[in-house]
Amino acid sequence: MEKSIKVINLDIQGMTCAGCVSSLEKALSKVDGVHLAEVNFALNRASVRYNPEFANYSQLESAVKAAGFSARLKCENNEFAELYEKSEDEYQKLYGQVKFALGFTVPLVLLAMAPMLGLSLPVIISPETKPLNYGMIQLLLTLPVLWAGRNFYAKGFFLFFNLSPNMDTLIATGTSAAVGFSIWNLSGTSQNIGGLYFETACVIISLILLGKSLEFKSRIRASEAIYSLLKLRPKEAVLVNNGKESSILIDLVESGDILRILPGSTIPVDGVIVKGSSYLDESMLTGEPVAVKKTVGTEVIGGTLNTNGVLDVKVKRVGAETTLSGIIQMVENSQLSKSRVSRMADKVAAVFVPIVLFISLVSGFLWWLSGAEVNEIVSYTIAVMVIACPCALGLATPIAILVGTGIGARNGVLFRSALALESTHDLNTIFIDKTGTLTEGCPKVTKLITNEDFTKEDLLFYASYAEKGSEHPLGKAVVDEAKKYSFNSTEVSGFEAKPGFGVKALVNGYTVIIGNQSFMEAEKILFGNLPEIAKEIPKGSTSVFVGIEGELAGVICLGDQTRLESKQSVFKIREMGIEVVMLTGDQETPAKAVAKKTGITNLHFGISPEEKSKIIKKYQQKGYRVGMVGDGINDAPALAQAEIGISMGTGTDVALKSSDLVLMKNDLRQVVFALLLSRATLKNIQQNLFWAFSYNVISIPIAAGLLVPFGGPALHPMLAAAAMALSSVSVVLNSLRLRKFSFSQVSQ
Ligand code: ADP
Ligand code: MG
Repeated sequence: MEKSIKVINLDIQGMTCAGCVSSLEKALSKVDGVHLAEVNFALNRASVRYNPEFANYSQLESAVKAAGFSARLKCENNEFAELYEKSEDEYQKLYGQVKFALGFTVPLVLLAMAPMLGLSLPVIISPETKPLNYGMIQLLLTLPVLWAGRNFYAKGFFLFFNLSPNMDTLIATGTSAAVGFSIWNLSGTSQNIGGLYFETACVIISLILLGKSLEFKSRIRASEAIYSLLKLRPKEAVLVNNGKESSILIDLVESGDILRILPGSTIPVDGVIVKGSSYLDESMLTGEPVAVKKTVGTEVIGGTLNTNGVLDVKVKRVGAETTLSGIIQMVENSQLSKSRVSRMADKVAAVFVPIVLFISLVSGFLWWLSGAEVNEIVSYTIAVMVIACPCALGLATPIAILVGTGIGARNGVLFRSALALESTHDLNTIFIDKTGTLTEGCPKVTKLITNEDFTKEDLLFYASYAEKGSEHPLGKAVVDEAKKYSFNSTEVSGFEAKPGFGVKALVNGYTVIIGNQSFMEAEKILFGNLPEIAKEIPKGSTSVFVGIEGELAGVICLGDQTRLESKQSVFKIREMGIEVVMLTGDQETPAKAVAKKTGITNLHFGISPEEKSKIIKKYQQKGYRVGMVGDGINDAPALAQAEIGISMGTGTDVALKSSDLVLMKNDLRQVVFALLLSRATLKNIQQNLFWAFSYNVISIPIAAGLLVPFGGPALHPMLAAAAMALSSVSVVLNSLRLRKFSFSQVSQ
C-alpha cells in the first residue's frame, strides 16, 4: 500500500436497502482524494481509501450526510461488542414500531373488509348510511401507521429528489399514491364509498417494518460468531508483583507483566508460561476440541481457556497486537470487503429501482389506454412499486459471506477477504509443502554420520552452534539434540540463513555450512568419501550435510513423523476433484516416503522456495487454479504466487498478513473444511441470488397485471407487500442455514 493512502472504516446509519449502497458509494467517491469507497449493507459499514492530503474525515462525514445518511468513525474492535449490544436495542425499537403499526393496521383491515366479511358495523360508521364517517375513521387509523413509517418517507422522497431513488422511494411513492388517491375519493363523493386504499398503505408499511425487523434480528444472529470471539476477552486479570497478587484492568496490562491464571478462567492476553502447567482449551480459536497440554516455555494465546492448573504467564502482546485482535480484525475486514458477485449484485440493484419506477408508470399508462378503471390502474401501479424492491438482491451476497466467514472464524479458518472466500471454491489444484504440513514438523535427529576426521560429538557441537539462530525445524532439531550433551559454550558469528538451502556461520573460528547438496555445491564443499557416507543414511530419512572449513564433515539424519490426518485429508481433497501436489526442498527418498504414506502421486522434490513459486506459475499458465498450503515463513513466494495462499498452524502476524487463508491449527483437515465451507457459501449465494432475482423477475409482470388479460390473477398491493417482505427474510434464513456447518463434520 502506498504511504499516502489511508483507509478508514465508517459506521453508517440510515441505510435501508441495497439501493443505498451505490448512492453512498457514489457520494463518497466524489470527494476529492478518495480512491475507493466500498459500502457493505449487511454490516452498515463503509470502507474508504483516500489520500489524506486531499481529503479528511470531516469531508467524508459531510459527504455521507449530504447523501442522506449519517456516519461515524468505526469503533476499534473492543467497541464492537457495544455496537452489537446496541443493535439489540435498535432491534427492540424497531420491533416496538412494528407492534405499534400493527395495532392500528389490524382494526383498519377488519373495518375495511367488514362489508365483504358480512360484519355489521355500528350505524354511525356504517358504509351504507354514513360513508363519509366510514372513510374518515379509516383515515384516522391510518395516520399513526404513516407516523410509524415516517423514515420511509423522509428517506424515500429525499433520495427521489436527489435522483438516486431506492427501495424507500418505492414504498414512499407507492403508499402515498394509495393514501392520496383514497383521500381524493373520500373528498369527492359522499354517496359512493369505493376506492379506499388506506388499509393497503398500512399493511404495506406494517409488513415492511416487520420484514425489516426480522432481517435485522437475523443480521444480529449472523454477527454472533465474531461477537462470541469478543466475549472471550476478560475485563480484568490477576497481576503478580513480588509474589503479591492484585487485580488489574485488562487495558492496563503491559508487555512483560506476570499474570496469574486460575483454573477455569480465560487467558487474557498472549504470553509465555513461566510457572506451572495445565491443559488449555483452544477450541474457540482453532476448532480443536481436545484440550492441549502447556508447560513452562510454551506460548499461550489470549482468549483460550485454562482448564485445570494454575499458570503464571509473562505477557508478550497486549491490545491490538494480540492474536485474538488480529483474528477479529481479519474477520471484520473480510466481512467488509466485497466479492466479485456482490459487486455485480450491487450494480444490478442500483439500476433496478429507476427501471421499476418506469415500468410501474408504463403499466399504469397502458392500463389507462386499455380503458381500465382508475381503481385498477392505481392498484397495479402500487403493486409493482412495492413488490420490486431489490432488497433481497442486495442482501443475497453479503449475508452469506457474513455467515460463512463467521463460521470459518469459529472453527479456526480465517479468510482474508470475501474474495478469498469466493476464490477458494473453485481451486482445482492444491500444492502442499511437506515439512510441517504433511509431517509433524518436529523432526528428531536419528543418526550422525561422520568422516574419520570428526567425532559425532564434534559434528553435533559445530552444527548445533551454527544452527542456534535458525528458525527452520531441521535447525531446531539439531539444537535440541545437542541439549543432551553439555557442550561448552563457544563464540558464534556471521550467522546467515538461506531459506530452502541451509545456514552458514563462523563457530569457534571455523566456517560451518549446513544444508542440502546444492548448498554444499554452491559453497564449494569437498565431498570426499560421500558415496560411502550416503550408504549409511537410513532409508526415507531426511539428511543434511555439514561442511566444516570447506570439507564435508558428516551428515545428520533426521526423521519426521507423518501426521495422522494427512492421508485422510489428501484423500478427501482429491475426492472433491482437486489435484494434490507435494512440494519440498527435501531430497528424493524422504520426499517419496512421505508421498507414499499420504497417498500423493504427484510430487516435486529438491526445489528452492523460488522454484516452488515457478512451478505454481507454470500450473497457473496451463489454466489451473492453485491453492498453496505452507508454513508462511520460508514459503512466502509460493504463497504469494498461488491464487489462495494458505498458511497453517500459526496465529502469527506474518501469517495473518501474508496469506489469503489462515488456518489456526496445523491440521490438513482444516484445508478440507475451508474448501467445503467456501463451496457451501458460494452455493448459498447462488441460491440467494436465484431466489431474489427470479422473485423480482416473476413477480413484476404479475403485479403489473400482465396475466389479467389472459384470465390470470392480479396481485393485490397488500399481497405484494407480504411477498416482498418474505423474499428478504427467506434469503436471510437461507444463509443462516450455513451455521450448522462445523469442523467436527470433516474431522471424522
Ligand atoms: P520444505 O520444502 O520441506 O519445507 P525447505 O525449503 O524449508 O524444505 O528446505 C529445503 C532443504 O534445505 C531442507 O530439506 C534442508 O536440506 C535444507 N535446509 C534448509 N534450512 C536448513 C537448516 N536451517 N539447516 C539444515 N538444512 C536446511
Ligand atoms: Mg517448509
